[in-house]
Amino acid sequence: MFNRSRRNLASWFTLSMGSILLIFAGILYYQESVQQLEVIDLILYKKARVITSNIRYKEYQGEKRVFLKHLPVLGNNPPPEDSEIIYARWYDTKGNLKRYFGQLPYKKINPKFTYQTLNLNNNSDVSSQVILLRELTLPVYYQGELIGYLQMAMPMTRVQEILNKFLLLLITTVLITLVITSLTGWFLSGIAMQPIQLSYKQLERFTAHASHELRTPLAAILSNAQVGLLAPMEDSASKHLRLEKVAEVAKSMNTLIGNLLFLARRTGRLTTEYLKEVDLNDLLKELLNSPSIKTAAKHLNLKSDFSESPIMVKIDADLICLAVINLLGNACKYTPAGGMVELRLFSKYNQAIIEVEDNGIGIAASDLPHIFEQFYRVEQHQTNSTNSFGLGLAIAQQIIEAHGGHLSVKSEQGKGSVFQIKLPL
Ligand code: ADP
Repeated sequence: MFNRSRRNLASWFTLSMGSILLIFAGILYYQESVQQLEVIDLILYKKARVITSNIRYKEYQGEKRVFLKHLPVLGNNPPPEDSEIIYARWYDTKGNLKRYFGQLPYKKINPKFTYQTLNLNNNSDVSSQVILLRELTLPVYYQGELIGYLQMAMPMTRVQEILNKFLLLLITTVLITLVITSLTGWFLSGIAMQPIQLSYKQLERFTAHASHELRTPLAAILSNAQVGLLAPMEDSASKHLRLEKVAEVAKSMNTLIGNLLFLARRTGRLTTEYLKEVDLNDLLKELLNSPSIKTAAKHLNLKSDFSESPIMVKIDADLICLAVINLLGNACKYTPAGGMVELRLFSKYNQAIIEVEDNGIGIAASDLPHIFEQFYRVEQHQTNSTNSFGLGLAIAQQIIEAHGGHLSVKSEQGKGSVFQIKLPL
């Protein structure tokens, strides 16, 4: 799937870049052709002017006549070999041919100043090489009076050669650039696919873990229900016990689903409209006195150390409470009876710092890099508790990062752990 998307992305990139390149090359070729045509037209015009400047127009036997015999090209003397003129023709004012040099002429002409490109082969033989001519028809005036038309043509071989070379250069450049573009497209689409691939893998892992975690309590519910059903009708004590188990497992399932929904829904940073200026001192004091924390820490020595002055932060108070509850809950869960758990709050370098320290079982160095991953649980720490899904720290980290903060841990096996939350002030 990802390879196909990558191929599609690369092909579209190459196609769009290729089209732009082709249009650009087309414009360049067109401009070069126009320029070359202008050059040959100018040469042709200059040659025509040389001929026309030598024309004599004078009275002969009572009427005015044009004398052409002494002209270069059209006159009695043949033109020099390097003149490049294929033909030259002189027409009178009515367009009738009077004199010519070179190829057999048209009988009549269109009496207008024109340049036109002609195919010498007349398209008769497809296989033969196309030889193009540039032809000029020039009306000639003598003291403001039209005296005739000069038509002459030059081969466009040189222009064709230059344009062919230019075309070859353009094709080679376009092809090389297309190859480079497609390689770049392939490389760039690979980079573009990386984050998508990563989040797809994460999603896959998340779904696999979630379904696995849900299957266990579901199996427990089913087996309890079946055992309860098998018990004799009058054995209400046994049925009651099974129902209690079902209720307990359903409760933990409810927690798990709640956690999963939380992780799935909340991604990215929180927008400021959801944040409120809160004094962390008040918030954490209230939290520490809540019945749930008191119950969780009833077997422990729960201490606190808060800042003297208020610490104001822009947060979603419910979410920050949830993160701290997860950390405090873990500290209480993984500290043996009689141990100590401490909640601290202070500010440092423009940051509010919340610390949860315990002197419990601690975390092995090999587990430390993974404990914030979803569904990660340290195997040796597992008890029979049905409420341990390995999601508490992942949720806490997601909440802190959504506030632009940072959650870190220091721990030593057998000695205890310190979880630290840093929030921007
Ligand atoms: P769980 O629901 O299993 O506690 P968490 O994501 O909250 O999931 O924690 C992941 C794992 O990190 C736990 O399984 C536990 O092994 C370890 N852990 C978390 N906090 C502590 C702590 N304070 N002391 C020792 N181990 C801890």
